[in-house]
Order: sequence, then C-alpha cells, then structure tokens
Amino acid sequence: MSDMDEYDRLYKNPNEPIEARLKDLLSRMTLKEKIAQMTQIERRVASSSALKDLNIAKQTLEFHGFSAPNNGPFEKALSSDWSDMVDGYQKLALESRLGIPIIYGIDAVHGNNSVYGATIFPHNVGLGATRDTDLVQRIGAATSLELRASGIHYTFAPCVAVCKDPRWGRCYESYSENTEIAGKITSFVLGLQGHPPEGYPTGYPYVAGRNNVIACAKHFVGDGGTEKGVNEGNTVLSYEDLERIHLVPYVYCIQHRVSTIMVSYSSWNGNKLHGHHFLLTEILKGKLGFKGFVISDWEGIDELCQPYGSDYRHCISTAINAGIDMVMVPFRYELFLEELAFLVQSGKIPIARIDDAVERILRVKFAAKLFEFPLTDKSLLDIVGCKPHRNLAREAVQKSLVLLKNGKDPGKPFLPLSKDAKRILVSGTHADDIGYQCGGWTGSKYGSSGQIAIGTTILDAIKEAVGVKTEVIYEQYPSIETIKRHEFPFAIVVVGEAPYAEGRGDNSELTIPFNGSRIINLVADKVPTLVILISGRPLVIESCLLEKIDALVAAWLPGTEGQGITDVIFGDHEFKGQLPMTWFRRVEQLDQLVDHGVKSYDPLFPLGYGLAYNKENLYD
Ligand code: BGC
Repeated sequence: MSDMDEYDRLYKNPNEPIEARLKDLLSRMTLKEKIAQMTQIERRVASSSALKDLNIAKQTLEFHGFSAPNNGPFEKALSSDWSDMVDGYQKLALESRLGIPIIYGIDAVHGNNSVYGATIFPHNVGLGATRDTDLVQRIGAATSLELRASGIHYTFAPCVAVCKDPRWGRCYESYSENTEIAGKITSFVLGLQGHPPEGYPTGYPYVAGRNNVIACAKHFVGDGGTEKGVNEGNTVLSYEDLERIHLVPYVYCIQHRVSTIMVSYSSWNGNKLHGHHFLLTEILKGKLGFKGFVISDWEGIDELCQPYGSDYRHCISTAINAGIDMVMVPFRYELFLEELAFLVQSGKIPIARIDDAVERILRVKFAAKLFEFPLTDKSLLDIVGCKPHRNLAREAVQKSLVLLKNGKDPGKPFLPLSKDAKRILVSGTHADDIGYQCGGWTGSKYGSSGQIAIGTTILDAIKEAVGVKTEVIYEQYPSIETIKRHEFPFAIVVVGEAPYAEGRGDNSELTIPFNGSRIINLVADKVPTLVILISGRPLVIESCLLEKIDALVAAWLPGTEGQGITDVIFGDHEFKGQLPMTWFRRVEQLDQLVDHGVKSYDPLFPLGYGLAYNKENLYD
C-alpha cells in the first residue's frame, strides 16, 4: 500500500480523531484549495438554469469546494427538488481532487421556510413569548429533519439578537429584549445540532448525526442594540454593557456547542464588526473559546471600505485578519479568490491565519459527518410538513399567544369565545392570509401575502372550530350594511403588519398598517370584538382604541398553523404567553425604554405581561 493510500485512509477514516483527520487533510491542500474552503458563493452566480449551474460548478469545484447559500432551484420548490439540486452539487464536490464535501446553507429561521410544503413555526419573537426551552429545542429538531430531508446541511439560525428597540426591522427575529430570556431560548441550537454527550469539549462544534444540521448563532454582536433600532446601525455601549446585554446569548450557544457564528453588519462604537479583531478573535475565539468557524454576513466585508466594496483587497485583508473564517462573497468570488491568494503570497495575511480558518471549517465538516454522509437520506422525504411537525407548530402557536386584555369590566371576561354562537363576523386584512401569518423569510426573503406556504389560515381554523350551526361571515373590510343586517354576538378582527425583512422593516411610526385601527374601530363600535394582532413587534394601540375593544391577543407571526390560535381563543387551551418585549405606549417613549431600569418606565404593558383564563396575570 502506498503512502498516498495511507493518507487517504487517515482523513477519510471516521474512526480517527477529528483533529488528526483535519491536520492530515490540511497538509495535503494547496493554497488555492484552502482559500476555496473559505468561500461561500451564491447559487445563482452560476446561471439561472440548473444545468448550466452544474457545468460551471464542475469547473470551479476542481479546486474550490465552495459552500453555497440560500436560494433554491425555483419558486415553490418542493423538498425533493431541493435535495436533487444540493446532491447534484455535492456529487461534483466529491469528484474534486480531495473529495471535500460542500456545506449548503440557507436561512431556515422558522422551519424549513424556503421549501414549499414545510412546517412553518412562529418567528422567534413568538418563541420568546413561550419561555419554553424544551418546546424550542423540539422545534429545532423538527426543523433539522425537514432541512436534511431537503438535502440542506446548514441553517443561518438562530438569530440571538437582544432587540432593544422595536423600530428595528429584525425585531421579530429576536427572542426577547431580555438577555436571559434570549439566552435560554438558544436551546434551539440543541435541537438543530443534537445534544452533545457529557464531557464533550466546550466550544467544540457538535452535530449528532445525519438527521441534524449545522447551526449558526447570529449576528455577532450587538445587532439588536443599535441607536434608534436602525438596521446595520451603530451600537453605542461600554464593553461591560455589551458583554452584559448582548454577549450572553453567545455564551449559551457556545455551551450548546454551536458550530458557526455569523458576524453582524452593525458597528460597535463606530467600528464595523466585520473588521473587529478584538471582538472576533480576542473575545469570541479567545475568551469564549469558540472552536467552530466565524462566517461573514452577505457581502458583509464589502462594507469595510467606502464607497461600498471599492478597495476590495483592503476589505479582504481587514476581515480575514480580524478573524473571519468563511466569507459570503457571494457574487464576485473569482476576484475574492484571486485577491486572497495575492494577500497571502505577499505576506499581508499570514498563512497561519488561513490554516486556522480552514481547520475551523474542516472541523465543522468532519463534526457534521459530511464525509461519511454527504448525500440526502431519501427515506426522510415524507417528514417535510408531516402531521407531528404541524402539531408541534400548533403547540408553539398556542403557547406563544399573549392575552393583553380580556373584557371591559373586572370579573367579566370576554374570552373564551363560544363555539356555539349563532353567527360570527370575521374581518381584517390578516384573517385569511397564510403569507401574512408567516411574515418575512418565508418562500422568499421578504415574504409576501397569499398562498406561499401550505397551512391553515385563521379564518379556516375558525370555521373548523365552531359548531355546524354557527354561521361564519367573512368580510375583509366589513361593510356597515353587513353589521347592521345581522345580529352578531361578537366579532373577530385580525389585523397586522405586512411581511418584511431586515432594513425594509425599519419603522419609526409603528402604527397598525392597512388602516388596521379603522377596521377595528368600525367593528368594535357596533359589535363586541376580539382583536388578534399579527405582527413582529408591539405596535401603537391608542388608549381610546384599547378601551373600545373587548379582548386583545398578540399572536406575533405564528406561521402555518392557524388552529393554534382557535385552540386558545375558544378555550380548549390556556393562554401561556408572556410578553417578550415591553409594549410601549408612544413611539417617543422608545428612546427611554431601552433601559427600563429607569424611573420613566411607563409602558402600556410591561415585559413579561400576559393574562390567562385561570389566573389574573402570568406576570405576577
Ligand atoms: C442577513 C443574514 C442572512 C444572510 C444570508 C443577510 O442579509 O443579514 O441574517 O443569514 O443575509 O441570507
């Protein structure tokens, strides 16, 4: 047997320790092959047609072995379309000189939300309202199965931002404004990656097996603390406060052995995180002992020079020397590879830094057992959108609902509603729209209204819940005539926000869009009314409006399982949710509410608030 075969056996041998395997593999790699590992390209750079994609990928894979994020083969693609596509790339990667598998990553942030037919769970803000770490861990496990069934190995989740200002367009991606709540709910990582065995080294990436995926805690660090909640803005804090408020969820994630961490677009005291050696290398990799890989955000390194991306060489050297290991290029990867090679050859980036980055990436690939199980386990296909997962999502919806008002007079609760009412009026822009229920990062990044996912709307769930004798009349914008013509014991009005993501969701008004307040006014003037708010954050509720309505439920962005809402409002289940965020009275208050230790804390409903049927207030 030749030396070559011995080497081959070593890094390919699953019985060898990971560190020995990666050292062996690293010693066999050329500089080009090393830096190709650090490159994450966008699938679409290759071409719009899948076939051409594969041809171009084949050329580049001779030495690249890239990772590829995000977009799927086409709109409403099923999980089998996804797995065929990813496996296609993977087979090409395995044919390359060293046969290093790729990692395919997407933003599965509330279920496998790019795949049509997947189970869509409540967005993070709703999970924060449940306070239920076990539930969230189970959601992580279900999500990882649906991802693996679609060929995907890696999700850019969870977002562990501590959102201090609901004006931020990513507020709904945060579990809570409270550090400890956000920290504990990172049990999601244990669900995605599996629970590491006793004694597993801290900070070392762990992925239990082929039913699990690589997780990514993001966006490191302070993304939720920017001034006035501006997306990609500046977080102005002392190091002590940054650590106390924003670093804690990462400590939890590292204890859970999270494999990767994504850098934030934002700045800390005016300095971009993508070039922050102190935070990325000294704190994250040094003090916190993180041994997985640090990934940039999408074109995040381009922000290191102005005009945006102009001196690309400078962007690359700053980012890599600061401690970024894998870069989401995503489009100009050829230039990236060329410049990075030049920077190493000219000594601007030490080869030791490259070796460290590649070791970290290979460590994750070995830990995830991608060398042993590179392709989709087709027996998993039926798991996508299966009944047990939908039941789990339904349970999550039930537990995420926060009851903010129940009845106008003390001792006279309005909820639960009767299933035997003669007639129910259902109104509002969000009563019959699965896309609105799901919010952003569903189907596409910014989400949309309509049939973008398979599930049950609130209207459908109401029809399903009530008795056969109950007439359900649905008018999105109710007419006075309808209200006058019939006698309604009560009405259900569902209003809220349209889907958005990232900076597109930044909002300094925070009023209910689509004339939501007008619809509520119109109905509640004439009929006893329950209002269900579908939103990624607290919105302005004028006191005169609050007085007029009989009951108010914050349902956040619940996802595909509308029955979770009817289970609770009709009384089959108890309200369990508690506010993950302070509900402000006026937008002007937000600048003071950031630190609610201050005396001026005078919210409409405080952090933790939530009523229940059998208890006055979950908060007390
Ligand atoms: C977002 C990240 C996301 C990445 C890849 C960026 O714009 O900030 O949260 O993971 O895109 O889609």
